[in-house]
Amino acid sequence: MPMLTSSVESIQMVDLKNQYLKIKPAIDEAIQECVNSAAFIKGPQVSAFEQQLGHYLTIGNVVACANGTDALQVAMMALNLQPGDEVIVPSFTYVATAEVIALLRLQPVMVDVDPKTFTICPSAIEQAISQKTKAVVPVHLFGQCADMERISDLCSAYDLFVIEDAAQAIGATYSYTNGNTVSAGAMGMLGTTSFFPSKNLGCFGDGGAVFTNNDTIASHVRMIANHGQAKKYEHDAIGINSRLDSIQAAILLEKLKFLSTYTLYRQQVADMYDAVFSGITAIEIPYRMPGSTHVFNQYTLKVPAAERDELKAYLDDRKIPSMIYYPMPLHKQKAYRGLGRVVGELSATEELCKQVISLPIHTELSNEQIQYITESVTTYFN
Ligand SMILES: *Cc1c(COP(=O)(O)O)cnc(C)c1O
Repeated sequence: MPMLTSSVESIQMVDLKNQYLKIKPAIDEAIQECVNSAAFIKGPQVSAFEQQLGHYLTIGNVVACANGTDALQVAMMALNLQPGDEVIVPSFTYVATAEVIALLRLQPVMVDVDPKTFTICPSAIEQAISQKTKAVVPVHLFGQCADMERISDLCSAYDLFVIEDAAQAIGATYSYTNGNTVSAGAMGMLGTTSFFPSKNLGCFGDGGAVFTNNDTIASHVRMIANHGQAKKYEHDAIGINSRLDSIQAAILLEKLKFLSTYTLYRQQVADMYDAVFSGITAIEIPYRMPGSTHVFNQYTLKVPAAERDELKAYLDDRKIPSMIYYPMPLHKQKAYRGLGRVVGELSATEELCKQVISLPIHTELSNEQIQYITESVTTYFN
């Protein structure tokens, strides 16, 4: 049995405190500068961050907003979708994806995911398309892009908008068969992300952004996120108030410098997990699409449904945190049951809700902690 030491006593799902401590002087200075200038809203840090993130991801336009949920809402508002229009989403996702659809009086159409990749199944999308379908929201779940080549082809054939939910996949790339490699969020008409503290690029509160390579839509997004005004006190559309604070932008500017390092570290942890868990027959390690990158916002295993909760309890006993993302699909949630349409059996989604378990993965995990986790899981299955 692996021995408990103080370092393995304190394993966390995410360790934001130690991540901060490593870059504390730069972050503290950036925050202090903001406070000194008192430009709390629309300070120069916001546009600097938008530009640098756009450059980093090779996306034409980044419009920062208050959180990832607002980013999805603003993106849908910018497309002028009308009440009753249908938007296809995976049922295996975080609720925000469907929430904004319902709030805008659009109809969520919930479909199955691919059991291997956990992302929306292109053939399920095709089966769900109706006269009313206007858009598809692929979610790049856990840090890996959905099958964007097939989804893009399908959506051009049926003239549908693609809005990528890249909240969990900032910095991930997707490779098309022609060799083109593109960032998550840059493939659809619009992409969205979140800077919630536990995302791969997290701020110290709420934050989000909308991405688009279309300049006209970008202006529209910017207008909608700012009360529907392009010029002060001239309201051309009904918008919302959704801004990224200058302080959050200042923090993100500092953290963006480390995003590549953070991503690499997460991938290295995933490699170490894979190396051990691939030798355990009861475990299915996260599938990685050839040519594309996985940025591991979550490291999610599939285990037999009958073992999952027992494994979680065993890990809890050994002070190893784990999470179930997600225990209940959208189409079974009370608020969404009667809404829109559900197409197909969604058997992959329902199975996954019983099989998945996410292990700690973050930029501060030590080798000792990783070893303690892998040994504990191995002991459980022996
Ligand atoms: C986190 C998340 C969101 C929402 O982001 P917030 O900033 O928390 O509003 C949306 N979609 C997915 C898939 C997410 O993981």
